[in-house]
Amino acid sequence: MIKITLPDGSVKEFKSGVTGHEIALSISEGLARNVLSAKVNGEVWDSSRPIHEDADVQLLTWNDEDGKATFWHSSAHLMAEALEAMYPGVKFWVGPAVENGFYYDVDFGGQSFSSDDFEKIEKKMLELAREKNEYLRKEISKADAVAYFEEKGDEYKLDLIERLEDGDITLYTQGGFTDLCRGPHVPHTGIIKAVKLTNVAGAYWKGDENNKQLTRLYGVSFPKQKELKEYLERVEEAKKRDHRKLGKELELFTFSEKVGMGLPLWLPKGTILRERLENFMRRAQIKAGYDPVVSPHIGSKQLYVTSGHYEKYGEDSFQPINTPSEGEEFLLKPMNCPHHCEIYKARPKSYRDLPVRFAEFGTVYRYEQSGELHGLTRVRGFTQDDAHIFCRPDQVKDEFIKVIDLVLYTFKALGFENYTAQVSLRDPENKSKYIGDDELWDKAEREIQEAADERNLVTVRELGEAAFYGPKLDFMVKDALGRSWQLGTIQVDYNLPERFELEYTGADNQKHRPVMIHRAPFGSMERFVALLIEHCGGDFPLWLAPEQLTILPISEKYQDYAEELSMILSEKDIRGSVDNRDEKIGRKIRDAEVNKTPFMLIVGESEAKDRTVSVRRHGQGDLGSMSINDFIDHFSKESAI
Ligand SMILES: [Zn+2]
Ligand SMILES: [Zn+2]
Repeated sequence: MIKITLPDGSVKEFKSGVTGHEIALSISEGLARNVLSAKVNGEVWDSSRPIHEDADVQLLTWNDEDGKATFWHSSAHLMAEALEAMYPGVKFWVGPAVENGFYYDVDFGGQSFSSDDFEKIEKKMLELAREKNEYLRKEISKADAVAYFEEKGDEYKLDLIERLEDGDITLYTQGGFTDLCRGPHVPHTGIIKAVKLTNVAGAYWKGDENNKQLTRLYGVSFPKQKELKEYLERVEEAKKRDHRKLGKELELFTFSEKVGMGLPLWLPKGTILRERLENFMRRAQIKAGYDPVVSPHIGSKQLYVTSGHYEKYGEDSFQPINTPSEGEEFLLKPMNCPHHCEIYKARPKSYRDLPVRFAEFGTVYRYEQSGELHGLTRVRGFTQDDAHIFCRPDQVKDEFIKVIDLVLYTFKALGFENYTAQVSLRDPENKSKYIGDDELWDKAEREIQEAADERNLVTVRELGEAAFYGPKLDFMVKDALGRSWQLGTIQVDYNLPERFELEYTGADNQKHRPVMIHRAPFGSMERFVALLIEHCGGDFPLWLAPEQLTILPISEKYQDYAEELSMILSEKDIRGSVDNRDEKIGRKIRDAEVNKTPFMLIVGESEAKDRTVSVRRHGQGDLGSMSINDFIDHFSKESAI
């Protein structure tokens, strides 16, 4: 008998040789049907593979990342089986699971292939899936493996075998297809119910451009037809919400090759949106006790030598700026922190002065390769909603709680309801890697967790994920399409106070080092606006919308009333414009809907006479007639944060 420990801590006894599938069966038949693979002592195995010693076992289903990976990798085998049946002599390199599906690198040996062939391959895959062929694992000697693939004339698999140890080689066969693979795979092909090939691209063998170019064929698969349908809908929706597309349509920002790649230009509407966000954060920060500061866009090279940034990034980023005077060198600011350290030093500090919190919407510049640039999410110049808190070690926990509150307030105001937090800690086995006092680290790590717990955050703890200079807390936010974005990092830093020799005078009249905390709830204005556009699909919360309403006179006769209305509303800080075009009212309404303008106020004869407005709300339709004051009340209620 052997002891199997399940994730909930329960221990069950089984005969040696028990499989993941049998363990699942002992729990329920439903579970057994859904088990795709099993994690045995940390390694993912076929659910049909016998276990011969005491082990920790986690049964993996579609709901586990590792289970999904098993499913998708098995689908790559199924695709290879279909291809081998349809394109005789085709050869395969590697076929891993990836973030959203799987791919296989294929040598078609000169046979023509294009995305027009996707459909018939999908059909063949499903036909083979319905045969419910088992994925059979076979251990094989190196000599036998070489003989098998030499016979087949497959130089790719022979290349892989060369690097494998004898005794560590397995083949998997499903139906008529055999592949060299270490596994694991799902029990049989019948589990794969829906398949979609998504992309085809060239890929050099082993990523080396001197090698032959193979065809990389991407696909995705699901255990239910319904899930494929939902997936395709999400892909469609993501395309519609792409911030680059909406940014252009809604006239928020643009790029110009003449200005330079990766350097966004904010158009008037985008600027209003961005300023609204900045003002929101400014107000929240003033309430939370921050002091605004401003620092220049460049700094002496020596500043970044002191901070360590030059040593770390100097070679791979923008190069120093030289001046006509000899020996002067400046760098574009890659980080605001060094400037803020010098601001801290402007005046001597006592323990009673701390904490100090310096906030700046600081624009920084970092070189990104042109191929890495992407809309507003990867740019070469961006503005952080940055702040640095300098505090005593006994204030770290309180400061963390305050920053967590600020981050959560931001998420709430912007409609992000789905988030988790990650606490990144030291690698306890390797403490010498980290700078700073051992006791301080222990205390800070404990207090970050306590701060998160006090605010009921769901956290995961990651050992070894801390920076060398301090532990941190990151938020992972899910957008409306379920995609994860990292936001709102709060980072403890023991390094910069040391490098800049920051001090305060303690109650004991001795000099002490403050602790520095970096934080930026939005991260950067650019990336955050991109996220916001994609999260709300351009339908911004009312308080943020660049144009909150448009006034639509039915004809020229009511233009004066429309203009007067516009003045009254703008005095109430309600932003909008009058659509004076000589167009039919139906057309004006359609255009306002396309622009996602939240409110449309239609004015004609009776409105002008009674001093009312006829109100339409984007996404809701007609709200009827209201007096001007009633509309202002209605608007204020909805736009309150
Ligand atoms: Zn495999
Ligand atoms: Zn910083």
